[in-house]
Amino acid sequence: MRQLLLWVGHTCNRLRILPQKRFSSSAASTPKICIVGSGPASFYAAQHLIKTLPRAEVDIYEQLPVPFGLVRFGVAPDHPEVKNVMNTFTKTAKSPQLRFIGNVTLGRDLSLRELRDAYHAVLLAYGADEDQELGVNGEKLSNVLSARRFVGWYNGLPRDTDLPVDLNVEEVAVLGQGNVALDVARILLTPIDRLKNTDITEHALEALSRSRVRRVRLIGRRGPLQVAFTIKELREMLALPDCITVCKLQDFEAVRPLVPGLERPRRRLTELLCKAADSSPSGDLDESKRHFHLVFFRSPLSFYPSPDVPHAVGSMKLVVNQLDGQQQAVPTAITETVQCGLVLRSIGYRSTQADPALPFDTGRGRVPNISGVVHPGLYVAGWLATGPVGVILSTMTQAFGVGRAVEADVCSGRVDASQARPGHTAVAKLLSDRGVTTVSWKDWERVDAVERSRGEKVGKPREKIVDVQEMLAVSVGAGGT
Ligand SMILES: Cc1cc2nc3c(=O)[nH]c(=O)nc-3n(C[C@H](O)[C@H](O)[C@H](O)COP(=O)(O)OP(=O)(O)OC[C@H]3O[C@@H](n4cnc5c(N)ncnc54)[C@H](O)[C@@H]3O)c2cc1C
Repeated sequence: MRQLLLWVGHTCNRLRILPQKRFSSSAASTPKICIVGSGPASFYAAQHLIKTLPRAEVDIYEQLPVPFGLVRFGVAPDHPEVKNVMNTFTKTAKSPQLRFIGNVTLGRDLSLRELRDAYHAVLLAYGADEDQELGVNGEKLSNVLSARRFVGWYNGLPRDTDLPVDLNVEEVAVLGQGNVALDVARILLTPIDRLKNTDITEHALEALSRSRVRRVRLIGRRGPLQVAFTIKELREMLALPDCITVCKLQDFEAVRPLVPGLERPRRRLTELLCKAADSSPSGDLDESKRHFHLVFFRSPLSFYPSPDVPHAVGSMKLVVNQLDGQQQAVPTAITETVQCGLVLRSIGYRSTQADPALPFDTGRGRVPNISGVVHPGLYVAGWLATGPVGVILSTMTQAFGVGRAVEADVCSGRVDASQARPGHTAVAKLLSDRGVTTVSWKDWERVDAVERSRGEKVGKPREKIVDVQEMLAVSVGAGGT
C-alpha cells in the first residue's frame, strides 16, 4: 500500500506535480489509458486526463483516418463557428502525452480484450451512429433516407458519399422536429450561393445546384410545445431568403394561453413559433418562392411509390394525433395523404455493440454505466454513454465528468496502475501483424493541408476528401505504411 501511495503521489496532478514530458517517466509510474473514438467526448475526456494526470499516456484510436467525429461529419457546413472546437481538440492532440491512431476500428481491427490487456484504463467514446427506423410499410422505397446519412452525404462521411439521393423532386418530408431535422431542411431550402463558400462537399453542392425542391415539410407527432429544435436554428430558418414559413393557426390555439407560464427558453421559442404562425400566408401560396411547412400532430403510417418512378417514394399517409394528459401523441381515426418525392427520417439514433465483450443495453442502444463508469478500468463517454441527446456543450460536460472518474480511479488505486502495461507498443504490434495501416496526427495534418489547399482554390475553407483510400494515400502515401 505504501508503494502505491508513493506512486500515486508521483502521478496525480492534485498533488501539484509539474507536467512532465511523455515517456520520460518509468514504466511503472505511467498510467496508460486508451480512448476509442475521436469526437468531442474523446477529446474533452483526453483534455482532462492530460491536465490532471501529467504522467499518463493517452492514446486515441479512431476508425476513420481523420479525427473529430460529428464535428466534421455532423455539424452543418453553414455553421463554421461551431467547428472552432476543432482548434481546441488540435491543441490537445499536440500534447506530448497524446497519440492519435486513425484507421483502427474497435471490433474489427482490435478487440476490447486486447485493449484492456494493453492499457490500465479503456474509455469508449465511439458515439451513436445507427439510425432508428420507423418500421412502417414502404420504408424501403428509394428516396426514403435517414436524415443523418443525408448529413453524412453533404458533409463527406466516406460511407455516405454514394448515398442515392435524388433531388429531382419538388416535395420533401422531414420526419422529426429536432435540430438535425432543421439542419437538413435548411440545407435543402438555402439558396445555393450561400452554400458554395462553405466546406460542403463538391458532389453535394453540384446535386443541390440542380435540386428541384420547392417545399419541405417538417413533420412532428406532437405539437408546438414539444419541438426539440432550438431558437437559434428556428431563427435562421425563418430568415432564409426566398423561403416562406407556413403553419396552421389552429395548431397554436391551445398553446397561446400557456405561453406566459412557460420557462424562459421554451417561452421564447414558443413565442417565435406563434409569431411565425401569425405571419403564415393564408390562401394561395406564392409559387415563385420555396416553402417551409411546420406540420404538427402527425405520424407516418405508410409510404407509397411514385406513379412515375415506381421504386421511389411518391406520397405518404399520415395519421392525425392528439395529445393525452401526459402530452403523449395518441392517433385518431383521421388520416391524410401528402406528396413527397424524398423523405428524410430524423427520429433518433442508437449506439452499436462494437465488441461482444462490452456490456450493452440492446433496448436502449447504449452501454449501461453510472456517470460514465462501467466498472473501474472501463468507461464510456459521450453519446455512447448518454444516448444521442444534447449538443457539443453537454457532451463536453459529461466527458469531463468521465475524465474525472478515470482520474479518481487511477489516483485511488481502484485502477491498479502500479504494474506496467505495454500500451501502444503491444497494440501497434497487433495492428502491424494484421496488416492495418494506421494514421498518426502528423499524417492527418497532411490530409488537412491538402483539403485546405484544394478548398482555397474554389473559395471554400476546405474541400473534404471523401474516400478512405484517398485519405490514406494522402496521409501515409499510396498503399499505406
Ligand atoms: C447531424 C448532427 C449535427 C449536429 N450538429 C451540432 C451542432 O451544430 N452543434 C452542437 O453543439 N452539436 C451538434 N450535434 C451534436 C454533437 O455532434 C454531439 O453532441 C457530439 O458529436 C457527440 O460526441 P461523441 O464524441 O459522443 O460522438 P461522435 O462525435 O459521433 O464521435 C464518435 C467517434 O467514434 C468513431 N468511431 C465509431 N465507431 C468506432 C469504432 N468501432 N472504433 C473506433 N472509432 C469508432 C467515429 O468515427 C467518431 O469519430 C450534431 C449531431 C448530429 C447527429
